[in-house]
Order: sequence, then structure tokens, then C-alpha cells
Amino acid sequence: MNCFKADPLSRVAIRHFVRLLKRKVGLEYELYFPILPFVENVLPVLIPDFQFEVVPRFEMGGKHGETYPNKNLMKIREDVYLRAASGEGRDRLTIAHEVGHLFLHEDDAIALCRLAPEEQLKPFENPEWQADAFGGELLASSYLIKSMTVPEVQEKCGVSSSAAYIQLSALRRHN
Ligand SMILES: [Zn+2]
Repeated sequence: MNCFKADPLSRVAIRHFVRLLKRKVGLEYELYFPILPFVENVLPVLIPDFQFEVVPRFEMGGKHGETYPNKNLMKIREDVYLRAASGEGRDRLTIAHEVGHLFLHEDDAIALCRLAPEEQLKPFENPEWQADAFGGELLASSYLIKSMTVPEVQEKCGVSSSAAYIQLSALRRHN
């Protein structure tokens, strides 16, 4: 089976990276991460040739978002963008996930690999796992939500209840 394998990156390393990034842009202690203003106003400052495209649904098909880290290009489907703009947690997380690909997955960090049938890609080598971990941490940062409940995380961080649950359980597993 073919798959994409990324340089290994632990959840701890991803948390650290996200915290430094949030510190750099003055958002370290903000519970609600303003994902769209970040993508539209801050990313172009951090990455001068960054391009952001909102793409109509008929052009993008089933994909919600797509990122080409080597071109510094991110595409978000129009309906996802609009729902994220109105505060929908699931769509905010889709965009945060794409930001993860942008920062973590330049070509040289990703290799196409072929796994033996019985072999499994380890989660921390899977670029999708890494982008999910990054996105979750960006919106619901472990160091800010430690003593919160799922509904509190959902409301204060603007994420879905499942994302809030995943972030809190990852925190409790200490992985
Ligand atoms: Zn992805």
C-alpha cells in the first residue's frame, strides 16, 4: 500500500511549535484563535509569497481544503470558508489543519512510501495525523485548556465538541 510518510513529529513537538507560533504573533494566551484573520492578515506577513484562495464548490469537489507547502498556496472551499467565518468549529478546524500542512510539510519532509501489508504507518509519521494535531492545538491549546471541560473548550475555543474531546483526552494521556 502506498502512503505519504512525514518526518516523525511527536505531539509534544507539535505543541511546542504551536505555542512559539502563537507567541510570535501575540496570541499565546488568547483562548479563541482567530483563524481566518490569521490566515488572511498574518500569514502573508510571516510568509511573504503566501497565497490564499477561496475556491467554489464545483471546482473543488469533495475536498474541503488543500495546501501546497512548497508553493505556499492554500485553497479552501467556499462553503467551508463561509462557515468558518461564521464561527463553525468544524470548518475553523479544517483551516487550522491546512495551516499545519503549510508549516510542517514542505516536500523534503514528506516521502511517498510503500508499506508491507502487515505494516502500519505510525501516527506521528502520518502527515494527516500531524496536521490534525497541529490544528487541534492551534485552536484549543493544551496549555490553556488543562482545567476545562468539553463544553467549556467547545465554547471558549470555538471548536466542535468532538475536537474538544479529542484535545482533552490527548492531554490526559500525556502523549
Ligand atoms: Zn490534510
